[in-house]
Amino acid sequence: MPPIDLADSPIIDHHAHALIKAQPQTVAQLQGYFTESADPTIKAKFVPDSIMWMRGIRELAAYFGCDPTPEAVLAAHSAIPLPDLANQMWSAMNSGALFIDYGFGAAINYSVEEQRVFIQQPIEKILRLEWFLQDLIVELSTFRQVEEAFFARVASARADGHLGLKSIIAYRTGLDIQWVTRDEAMRAFGPVKDKADLDGKLRLADKTLCDYFVLLALEIANQQELPIQFHTGFGDTDVDLIKANPLYMRPLFQSGRFNRVPFVLLHSAYPYTRELGYLAAQYPNIYMDTSLAIPFITTEIPRMLHQIFGMTPLSKVLYSSDAFSIPEIFYLANKWGRAALEQVLGELVDSDALTVQQALKAGRDILGDNARRVYQFS
Ligand SMILES: [Zn+2]
Repeated sequence: MPPIDLADSPIIDHHAHALIKAQPQTVAQLQGYFTESADPTIKAKFVPDSIMWMRGIRELAAYFGCDPTPEAVLAAHSAIPLPDLANQMWSAMNSGALFIDYGFGAAINYSVEEQRVFIQQPIEKILRLEWFLQDLIVELSTFRQVEEAFFARVASARADGHLGLKSIIAYRTGLDIQWVTRDEAMRAFGPVKDKADLDGKLRLADKTLCDYFVLLALEIANQQELPIQFHTGFGDTDVDLIKANPLYMRPLFQSGRFNRVPFVLLHSAYPYTRELGYLAAQYPNIYMDTSLAIPFITTEIPRMLHQIFGMTPLSKVLYSSDAFSIPEIFYLANKWGRAALEQVLGELVDSDALTVQQALKAGRDILGDNARRVYQFS
């Protein structure tokens, strides 16, 4: 197999999260970061039996030069100040920029501003729609006020320093987004607002409102050609995975109303990876992100990349880590992602599907240059 070496290709990590202030102090806490499950028994009892953990601990031990035990890895982690550890791990994997969706865990994580002080690579912002929308519903009185404030925030997103929008509607009410009228949305608002007033907070999960406001954001994004990320496939524990199949979004793409919106569909839509690969191959403005499946499907990553590359144009595939909280998850995602790309592109050269030059260009594009183009990031 010809060596496809992508070590010099910087990663533009266009879907990432912030570091958490309270870093893990115990092995049990460390285990919690190696699963997408919120179930305490999964975290405590079954994570140690996962390849994500077993291989991860061994490779982290190799990085730290310590014994391949969770205790030794945790001790090594704790011995290095967080900014140093994070920068070293990003630098070891040639990470060139982070695009952070800062809506996730805002109170317990470092803010974008704080991280810009101690992280030695550019940090860009992505605006998560549902989080500020539910705050607006709590804070404001009427539907019209919420609508106007939402419109203003999305319309000025780019001017306010965001490279794109993000929706988590897949994990709230599903990707089968319906054409909701303003009247229907106004009617749905009443009971939701009453409950928000009663509780003093809101986890927005009303389908009519979620659909209405996502469509409103898409209209603005279309005018501004502003990229929007959608979670698809597995991810947060509140996902109804059936409704996270990106094929549910086909009516939106087919409508022609949002042809100028670059849609970046996240998480490889795993396990609907081929479905997403198909959509990206059919519609000019649909892009496929490979995150979360990388690193969480571990030994399956090369097979998944083969499934994607078979049909999807290589200029439409974007690597990201979707890593969060601790530097080690970024490190493992970036390490496994780049290694799998090198392996699979090498195999494609081997089978005469690509020339070495084409494979090297595809690797550079997927790790960073495709994201630069889609988000107009230089
Ligand atoms: Zn994600």
